[in-house]
Amino acid sequence: ISISIGTLTVMMFSLGLVLLSKERSESALQEAALKDALTGLANRRAIFELLEQALSQARRSATPLAIAMVDVDHFKSINDRYGHLVGDEVLRRCTQHMQQRLRRSDSVGRYGGEEFLLILPGTEVAGAVAVLNMLRESVAHAPMHIDHQEIRVHFSTGVWCGVPGPGDTADQLIQQADAALYAAKTSGRNTVCLAPGCATA
Ligand code: GH3
Ligand code: MG
Ligand code: MG
Repeated sequence: ISISIGTLTVMMFSLGLVLLSKERSESALQEAALKDALTGLANRRAIFELLEQALSQARRSATPLAIAMVDVDHFKSINDRYGHLVGDEVLRRCTQHMQQRLRRSDSVGRYGGEEFLLILPGTEVAGAVAVLNMLRESVAHAPMHIDHQEIRVHFSTGVWCGVPGPGDTADQLIQQADAALYAAKTSGRNTVCLAPGCATA
């Protein structure tokens, strides 16, 4: 068989393109598996993995870390009043709001519909409560302007904070932050509550 150098070059080049696009689409798929499409944040699975990493790091170095569950108050009413698309935009603005104010070493993920999971490594109780109250107050004091409408948004937050022990799993600590979130909701919303036992940690 005789193949000219030119033909061979074209074949090699095409093969290269095919491989490159396969690699690109695979990494796009991998990214989609970890990223929330609406907000671009780590999705539930990704933030859970980040939490597991942060927990083992904190255990190894015996440093405290804070885990916060942030939930938008009465978000259903925002959807009902302004429509689902405006609701979507509120979630994007909440994302920006938190990302702009947190440290680079902190992580935010979209845990569920209007629930965000925050990981604050190297943060003690007082610092965590201060940061989360700052997020809560700043969002409450800056109404969002979307489609010529002014929308007031409030957060409720549940926090677990401490040096994780060997038995503190990601699941258990999320459950504790969730229980504290429930307490924040029942105590009137727009507030930050600590999980029991963290206050003296
Ligand atoms: P609470 O203060 O107790 O948290 O009340 P809530 O209305 O925020 O909570 P509830 O769980 O009753 O409602 C959450 C709503 O969030 C219901 C659901 O339709 C809406 N939701 C979930 N995901 C999305 C989304 O991606 N976009 C929009 N626009 N709405 C969403
Ligand atoms: Mg809510
Ligand atoms: Mg919720």
